[in-house]
Amino acid sequence: MSECIFCRIASHALPAKIVEEDDEFMAFHDAHPVAPVHILVIPKHHVDSLAQWSAIDPARAGRMLIKVRDLAANLGVAESGYRLVVNTGHEGGQTVSHLHVHLLAGRLLLWPPG
Ligand code: 5GP
Ligand code: ZN
Repeated sequence: MSECIFCRIASHALPAKIVEEDDEFMAFHDAHPVAPVHILVIPKHHVDSLAQWSAIDPARAGRMLIKVRDLAANLGVAESGYRLVVNTGHEGGQTVSHLHVHLLAGRLLLWPPG
C-alpha cells in the first residue's frame, strides 16, 4: 500500500470528509482547517508537487483549476471571495508531498501570508 497519505485518501484506504470526486480529482476537508472553508483538491494520480508536474497534460492542469473554481461556486463562496494556495517545496511550506490546492474562504484572508 502507498505510504502517501493523500494517495491513501484518494483510494479510500484512509478516511476523509470527501466533498466530491471524479476519476481524476478528489476534494476533501483539511483535517486542520485554518478558515471556515478549507478544502484540499488533489489529483488522484500521485504527483509530488507542482514542481514535479512538468510532464502533465496542460488540459489536465486546466481541468483541475476549473474543478476548484466550480467547487468554490458550489460552496457559495464565489461572490464573497476565496484564496487558492499551492504550497510547493520546503520553503513554500509544503508538508504533504502529493500535489494539492488549498481552497480557503469564509473569512477575510490577510495578505501577505506569514
Ligand atoms: P501543505 O502544508 O502541504 O500545503 O498542506 C497539507 C495539508 O494537509 C495541511 O493543511 C494539513 O492540515 C492537511 N492534512 C495533513 N494530513 C491530513 C490528513 O490525514 N487528512 C486531511 N484531511 N488533511 C490532512
Ligand atoms: Zn500520493
